[in-house]
Amino acid sequence: MNEISVNDRQAPVRIVGAGLAGCEAAWQCARRGVEVELFEMRPVRTTPAHQTADFAELVCSNSLKSDSENTAPWLLKEEMRRADSLLLRIARECAVPAGHALAVDRVTFAANVTEAISREGLIRVRREEVSSVAEAGAQITVIATGPLTSDRLAGEIARLSAGTSAAEASSSSAIDIAALEALRQPKASNPHLYFYDSISPIVEADSIDMSRVYMAARYDKGSADYINCPMTAEEYGQFYDALLAAQSVEERDWEKLNYFESCLPIEEIARRGRDTLRFGPMKPVGLKDPRTGRMPYAVVQLRQENLRADSYNLVGFQNHLKFGEQARVLRLIPGLENARFLRYGQIHRNTYINGPALLRETLQMKAHPRILFAGQICGVEGYVESIATGLMAGIHAAGLALGRELVAPPRASAFGSLTHYVTHADAKSFQPANITFDLLPALEKKIRDRKERHRLQCELALRQFDEWAERTGVALVAGKA
Ligand SMILES: Cc1cc2nc3c(=O)[nH]c(=O)nc-3n(C[C@H](O)[C@H](O)[C@H](O)COP(=O)(O)OP(=O)(O)OC[C@H]3O[C@@H](n4cnc5c(N)ncnc54)[C@H](O)[C@@H]3O)c2cc1C
Repeated sequence: MNEISVNDRQAPVRIVGAGLAGCEAAWQCARRGVEVELFEMRPVRTTPAHQTADFAELVCSNSLKSDSENTAPWLLKEEMRRADSLLLRIARECAVPAGHALAVDRVTFAANVTEAISREGLIRVRREEVSSVAEAGAQITVIATGPLTSDRLAGEIARLSAGTSAAEASSSSAIDIAALEALRQPKASNPHLYFYDSISPIVEADSIDMSRVYMAARYDKGSADYINCPMTAEEYGQFYDALLAAQSVEERDWEKLNYFESCLPIEEIARRGRDTLRFGPMKPVGLKDPRTGRMPYAVVQLRQENLRADSYNLVGFQNHLKFGEQARVLRLIPGLENARFLRYGQIHRNTYINGPALLRETLQMKAHPRILFAGQICGVEGYVESIATGLMAGIHAAGLALGRELVAPPRASAFGSLTHYVTHADAKSFQPANITFDLLPALEKKIRDRKERHRLQCELALRQFDEWAERTGVALVAGKA
C-alpha cells in the first residue's frame, strides 16, 4: 500500500474518505495525471456500520440497482461507464446473479477496489481521521466522508457551512457534541442536517427451508434469482401482530429518529396500517407461486449476497428491533423457521449537507470553491449515486488542479440531473435523492407511453452527455482505458 509519512510533500488534491465516492474521485484525478492524498480513518477509527478496513465497503444491500436498459439507474451507470468509472468496472467483474439488477459479491468488490487504488502510483493513502479542512491554501479538498462522517469532521463541516473562520472555531468548542447535535437538528435555517436509516438482515442460505419457498423474479423480469417466501392471510396476520408487539432498540434523547422515507424500518411501515407492508417490501404482485399458479397474500423476497450463494438478505427488511426480537419475529416467515442470522437489521446515522444552499453544480462550495463534496454527504442517496458524484468531483478537482475551466455535466444527462437536484432543490426541505426520471427534465413533446418517454429521455441524456464528454476531454481520458 502507498502509505506516506505526515511530513511528505503535499499532493495538489486531498480526498477525505475512501468509500465509494472518495475512491472513484481519487481514481479520476489519477487518470488525469493529478496526484492525490486519500485519507481514510478506518481501521484507526471506525463507523457504526462498516465492518472491515477495506475501501468502498457496501454497508447494507449488495445491489447497484437496475441494469435494464432505459431505466434511470441504468442511464446513470451507462454514463459512468462512458466516463470510465473504476468502481462500476469492478462491480461488473464481481457481479452475482440478481435478475435485472447489478448486484455484487461485496467482499470481492471492496477487496478489488482497495487493491486497484493502492496500486495506483499517483494515489497516496493515509490511514487517519481528518478533523480540519483549510478553506484557503494550495490544496484542493474533496470531502467524501459519507453518511457516517466522524463527529469531529462533522463539526468542521458545520463551521465551514456556517461561514465561521477556522480561527474563530478553534477558540470555541468546535467539536463539542451537544453543540454539534444542536447544529444537526433538521431546521430550515441550518445547513447541516442529519437523520437515521437502516440495514437489512442476512441469513445463511442452508438455513432456509427450500421446500417452503420458490425462486422467481417479479413479473418474470430477468432470471429467477430471488428466493420468495409466500404467506397466507393467516400467516401474514400472525407476523404483523408479532412485529408490532416486538421491542425496538431504545433511542437516546438526542437520537429522535427522523427516517428517510424510502428506507423505513419494517416496524415503522407496519405502524402505518395493517396492509401497508403488503404494498411495500412484502408486496406479492408479479410473484405468482409456480407450485399453485396463484399470487400469495404477501411475499418476503431474499436476494443472494455473495458469489458462493451461501447467504441471502431480506430485501427491504431494515429494522430497528432488538436482535433477539428480530430472530423471533423473522422466523415466523415461511421458510425461515430455522434461519441462522449472519447479520441483524440495524439503524444508523445519515449525515448530509444542504447542497442547494452550499454547492455549485460542479460540487464546489459556493463560499469556498477549493472545497468540493461528493457521495452521500453532498445530498444524493445510494451507492451508484455516490460513485457518480465521486466521479464528477474527481473530474472537477483534477480540472481545478490543472487550471482548467470547470464545466458541469449537461442538465439533460443523469449526471447533470443529479447535480441539478443537489444544487437546485428547495433548500428549506432538502432531502437526499436517488436517480429517478423525476430528476430528469421533461421532454419538450408530451409522450404518453411511459416506456417510449423513458427511452427518448435516455437517448437525449446520452447524446448530451457524449457532447459534454467530448468537449471537456472526459471522452479522451475514458478512451485510454
Ligand atoms: C446504514 C446504511 C445503510 C445503507 N444502505 C444502502 C443500501 O442498501 N443501498 C444503497 O444504495 N445505499 C445505501 N446507503 C447509502 C449510501 O449509498 C452508502 O452509505 C454509501 O456507502 C455512500 O457512499 P459514500 O462514498 O458517500 O460514503 P462511504 O462509502 O460511507 O465512505 C465514506 C468513507 O469516509 C470515511 N470517513 C468518515 N469520516 C472520516 C474522517 N473524518 N476522516 C477520514 N475518513 C473518514 C469512512 O470510514 C468511509 O470509509 C446506506 C447508508 C447507511 C448509513
